[in-house]
Amino acid sequence: MDFVLVLILAVVGWFAGAAVWVVAHAQAAKRPPFRGPACDACGAPLGRLAWLPLFGFGTARRCAACGVTQSPLRPLFELAVAAFFALLAARQGWDLDLLAAVLFALPLLVILLVDWWTKLIYTNMIGAGLLLGFGFALIDGYRALINSLLSATGAVVVFGLLFVLAAVIYRNVRVVPFGLGDVYLAAMIGAMVRYPLVVSALFLGIFLAGIILMLLLATKRVDRRSAVPYGPFLCAGGLFALLAI
Ligand SMILES: [Zn+2]
Repeated sequence: MDFVLVLILAVVGWFAGAAVWVVAHAQAAKRPPFRGPACDACGAPLGRLAWLPLFGFGTARRCAACGVTQSPLRPLFELAVAAFFALLAARQGWDLDLLAAVLFALPLLVILLVDWWTKLIYTNMIGAGLLLGFGFALIDGYRALINSLLSATGAVVVFGLLFVLAAVIYRNVRVVPFGLGDVYLAAMIGAMVRYPLVVSALFLGIFLAGIILMLLLATKRVDRRSAVPYGPFLCAGGLFALLAI
């Protein structure tokens, strides 16, 4: 294990975590994703420095317009991304797969946050993730590209069937806990991690969703009719799989 590399990736992850939060925050508020940091409460711009971690190193913790302190979850998220990037570096060493994993993590993390907050998955992030997946597969050669394309297609077929099944069981597309966005997301994860890893990634996502949903139901944090987004768990499964590419 290369400790310098791990340290570098931790720092990169810390900054990436901040940027991912800003982009996801903008997208969740239906603003253009690169419009920049904005206040949680009033939506006023927080200034360019707020792209940096720890609320722009202390300069943007409070909104200048309304005085509200920004979500304490953001610095925690930044640390989690730093730890995840460090783990990627510890597992992989300095190569193209590490670069791929780092870049794949970005749309996965944005989608995780946005879907968690709004229960929506935006196709621009899916498109970016698909292009990254196919792009890195192309660098690995045409067999990898075919694998990537087939993995994405296979994920669409399997998750498409699940979507239809859920729609039949629930009889109303609008309350199905599982949406078309999840189908696209499965395709994106397939394009990124390819076969056979895509199988473990998606199973892990479904498994995590099941466990957490049971915990939430058992502790009465949600009831059977409330929609819990599936996407964040699929993203988590995808992120775990990145540790193995
Ligand atoms: Zn404000």
